[in-house]
Amino acid sequence: MSQAAPSAVLSFEDARHLVEEHARHLRPSGKELVELLDGAGRILAEPIIADRNFPPFPRATRDGYALRAADLSELPARLHVAGEVKAGIAYGDLPSLTPGQAVAIMTGAPAPAGSDAVVMIEYTSRHGDEVEINRSVVAGENIVATGSEARRGERLLAPGLLLDHAAVAIAASVGRNHILVYRKPKVAVLATGDEVVDVDALPGPTQIRNSNSYSLAAQVLAAGAEPIILPIAPDEPRRLRELIADGLEADLLLITGGVSMGKYDLVEQVLGEFNGEFLFTGVQMQPGKPLVFGRIPTGANEHEHAEGASSAPAPVYFFGLPGNPISTMVTFELFARPVIEALAGRSSRKLAFLHARLKSEIKVKTGLRRFLPAVLSGEFERAEVELVGWQGSGDIASLARSNCYLVVPPEQASVPAGEWVPVLMR
Ligand code: AMP
Ligand code: MG
Repeated sequence: MSQAAPSAVLSFEDARHLVEEHARHLRPSGKELVELLDGAGRILAEPIIADRNFPPFPRATRDGYALRAADLSELPARLHVAGEVKAGIAYGDLPSLTPGQAVAIMTGAPAPAGSDAVVMIEYTSRHGDEVEINRSVVAGENIVATGSEARRGERLLAPGLLLDHAAVAIAASVGRNHILVYRKPKVAVLATGDEVVDVDALPGPTQIRNSNSYSLAAQVLAAGAEPIILPIAPDEPRRLRELIADGLEADLLLITGGVSMGKYDLVEQVLGEFNGEFLFTGVQMQPGKPLVFGRIPTGANEHEHAEGASSAPAPVYFFGLPGNPISTMVTFELFARPVIEALAGRSSRKLAFLHARLKSEIKVKTGLRRFLPAVLSGEFERAEVELVGWQGSGDIASLARSNCYLVVPPEQASVPAGEWVPVLMR
């Protein structure tokens, strides 16, 4: 039986890097073909290739006149108008230009053969079948050359990409009405604690309702996975063991509560009985210090079979998240999310905080990296942030008044008003 190393408390950065390193080796369990719009928010499982040149013809980007730039050496210039080209014109109807001629053209239309630039209509005046041009252009101006955005056969999107609206637009533009995405991983959520009762039950005077399973399930959904909420585990090893065994059927197991130093905090002990390997048992952060991360060996690994790689049994990773609701949410976002994204097939990305100006001075004890509930406000270029009053990491009501977390590095005892401070958006 492996046990947690007694001093496996890591700095925030080391803990995050360790999780990223383990996540790097995880793979999704399979792929599925979905309709284009059902792919929005999913992870792309195939390369998306340009089926034609982009643009497929030399595209005018302005309304005006297509002409030869060389015909404008003297201004104003008078050119003969040889026709009109609108967007979507049939290829056979395209006029061609001889020197000294111009063609009226609309945005999105193909520049006719013989033309090399478009002059905006604002710099012209029309006189019957002639046009006077009052501004010169250089060759290529206001025309996007065939294939200059992408060549036919070029890869436009790589597997592992989150399909946001821009990626959906690209898939649509190459004619993909169906698209291959990775299957969503299953994430088991197990709340523990004798005092915790389900949302449907009437809590006794010393009981509290289970909110963590629901906040976690919502976060799991938002991270692109499928949550499986298990029944609440009492602080009793036999039932806890059964429920952990159920949870290990999933691709990832999230346990909340029972990882502090209390007499009835049994999660680590029971995970140890499953031959759990503990990668860390604490992080120098607040909220979230008693965070546990590890893995448990299981049977054959379907995932790697699917990829045709090794058949070595793959472990199932677990997190023991602290039970305090804010700790649970923050540690999920910072540590469980990258593991879920890897299981979902998403390419890894570094954690980066945004910055806002601090509205009023804050003072904290040094030693731990803090993630404090805060309000981001201001407008446009002026992002401001301010702490909300809170009673510590169990204060769920403070969350209703906050919309982000203000990050204070461990060495910093105070931050003056007006300083740019890092913010973790929620
Ligand atoms: P623990 O990590 O088990 O020591 O729990 C820390 C605090 O979080 C205690 O006040 C618990 O009552 C509370 N807590 C634990 N689990 C939950 C849960 N599922 N929902 C809401 N609060 C919880
Ligand atoms: Mg507990």
